Amino acid sequence: MTEATVIDGTAIAGGLRQRVAAAASLLRDRHKIAAGLAAILVGDNPASEVYVRNKARACAEVGIASFEHRLPGDCGETRVLELVAGLNGDDRVDGILVQLPLSSDIDARQVMAALDPAKDVDGFHPMNVGHLWRGEPGLVPCTPQGVLLLLRSVHPDLSGAEAVVLGRSQIVGRPVAALLLAADCTVTVVHSKTRDAAATCRRADILVAALGRPEAVTADWIKPGATVIDVGINRIAAVDRPSRLLGDVDFDGARRIAGAITPVPGGVGPMTIACLLRNTLLAACRRRGLPDPLSLRA
Ligand code: NAP
Repeated sequence: MTEATVIDGTAIAGGLRQRVAAAASLLRDRHKIAAGLAAILVGDNPASEVYVRNKARACAEVGIASFEHRLPGDCGETRVLELVAGLNGDDRVDGILVQLPLSSDIDARQVMAALDPAKDVDGFHPMNVGHLWRGEPGLVPCTPQGVLLLLRSVHPDLSGAEAVVLGRSQIVGRPVAALLLAADCTVTVVHSKTRDAAATCRRADILVAALGRPEAVTADWIKPGATVIDVGINRIAAVDRPSRLLGDVDFDGARRIAGAITPVPGGVGPMTIACLLRNTLLAACRRRGLPDPLSLRA
């Protein structure tokens, strides 16, 4: 039996970053525009600090300016909303990223809704969510966009494919389902109340796993030859060795039956930041009435 093709997210994300860098340089030289991304970090969550630092480094590598705004964990919602309003009106800022989670006294939905939708590079503003489901141009959430770009690397045409999305979160499952529908797939969304999730998954030509359950998807959930995209990132701690990352799919079992599969790490993960950079550049162009510098089909 042949093993599945491993979809190399690191390489695909690297290619996308290079294209973003080339487009950012063209924007500077031809239009004198320096695209900029502002990140809002509330409190001192160590994981959030790492994410924001990595995003700033990625911006620097492709020639996008980055601005970091740190607020204390007890600053309150009003202070965050004031900062958002300031960034909405700051012409150096094309994209605003609010690093989640926020502290429990701040309503993340209110903060998202306060963003200028044209600068909402995470694609969580209700206006962008609406555009996505209506199949209209807007800013598309980064991880779901990355999932589609990985799928397109093996299936340029997804039309008519039977797709199953495991998970229905606002940040992954639902937007992935909307993008697959826009790509003319027949889409089923599986969640914790679904009866016999495994049987539903076995119908899928395209299976996207975003459950947050380490290796929950085993080989017997997969149709022979299916393409499997594993969004899961589960850090497993061990006493006697360094912690390791596991996906939501049992990779070793699944690769013996799938046609193509993403690894964890090195699959969807690297695509998320690359798509954030892409969204920032896209926002910089759209705000000024310029065409999309990287016309990609997500
Ligand atoms: P989430 O908000 O916890 O949502 C998980 C979803 O899975 C929920 O809709 C839940 O159903 C469903 N679910 C849980 N257990 C299930 C089961 N046994 N059978 C069927 N459905 C089940 O998680 P998320 O934020 O979407 O993230 C999912 C995974 O992706 C996590 O591992 C996360 O770390 C990872 N992630 C990776 C990236 C990246 O850049 N690669 C980005 C974001 C997230 P209900 O709605 O019924 O509860």
